[in-house]
Amino acid sequence: MTSVSSSDVPPRPDDPDCPDCGETLVHVHTEISSGAFRTQAASMPELPIHFYDCPACGTCWKFATRLLPDPVRQTIRDAEQR
Ligand SMILES: [Zn+2]
Repeated sequence: MTSVSSSDVPPRPDDPDCPDCGETLVHVHTEISSGAFRTQAASMPELPIHFYDCPACGTCWKFATRLLPDPVRQTIRDAEQR
């Protein structure tokens, strides 16, 4: 019996700490993206993007090569809380 399933999904790093308040972020979901425009996608390696929320201050983050704010999800989240 051979298992290859785990090789398809890159390992997810440990949940990072919130740069704003130091709380450990909560993983929301992961997307696989080339991170490039469609015309360049064929030559770009696919990159997993991990999405996180901070349970303490409510900031949304995404992690690809480094941790960055996620203004798109932040806007959605803020709108839902109003
Ligand atoms: Zn925070």
